[in-house]
Amino acid sequence: MKDSYRHKGLRAQLVEVIRQKGIDDPRILDAIGKIPRHLFLDKAFEEWAYKDVAFPIGHEQTISQPYTVAYQTQLLELRGKMKVLEIGTGSGYQACVLVEMGAKVYSVERQQSLFIRTSEFLPEIGYGMIRTLFGDGYQGCEKFAPFDRILVTASSPNIPQTLVDQLKEGGKLIVPVGNDEIQTMKRITKLQDGKLEEESFGNFSFVPFLKGVVKAS
Ligand code: SAH
Repeated sequence: MKDSYRHKGLRAQLVEVIRQKGIDDPRILDAIGKIPRHLFLDKAFEEWAYKDVAFPIGHEQTISQPYTVAYQTQLLELRGKMKVLEIGTGSGYQACVLVEMGAKVYSVERQQSLFIRTSEFLPEIGYGMIRTLFGDGYQGCEKFAPFDRILVTASSPNIPQTLVDQLKEGGKLIVPVGNDEIQTMKRITKLQDGKLEEESFGNFSFVPFLKGVVKAS
């Protein structure tokens, strides 16, 4: 799998586009400048990899728009080596950005075919430290809870209580909440006395957060 000077040049342009849209954390921009996003798409669609758009990755799923990945990552306020649970592995791209931010990453996917794909692919490109899991993200990941941060990369009708329960004190959950068409980005912080602080950010459009799992055929 190859990463050329041309790809590096295209990535530098993408970083500039994202910076101009208001992302100023150098660690996030460096991560986007480093990760070979073209390898996450089918080779036939390589030219789309460094445009700031979402793209289909099969199984009716998408790799999120780079700006959206950067925006959610910024809201997480990652510091040091945090334990992060991602819901919706999809292509695995967002998980790689979290690794570049210094996080210890657990990522759950409900589509077994995508889970199998990322479990093979991520180690091939040097991201074997991501712990990929097959399961229903509505259950979170009891085995490795509690987490410093939880990031939901699919659109949820509400704030999932199970995920709130799996946050550490002082932990934060980022989740787009709304209907199928449009969602508001929410950040929930679990305060010291167990109370929750809720903040709302811009509007986004994610694929739906669905219940249950889909086995590979
Ligand atoms: N983070 C991904 C983008 C994911 S798109 C990336 O960087 O490419 C949203 C993903 O969430 C899809 O792969 C979808 O299958 C998954 N998903 C939806 N509902 C889920 C659930 N209940 N549990 C786990 N994953 C889920």
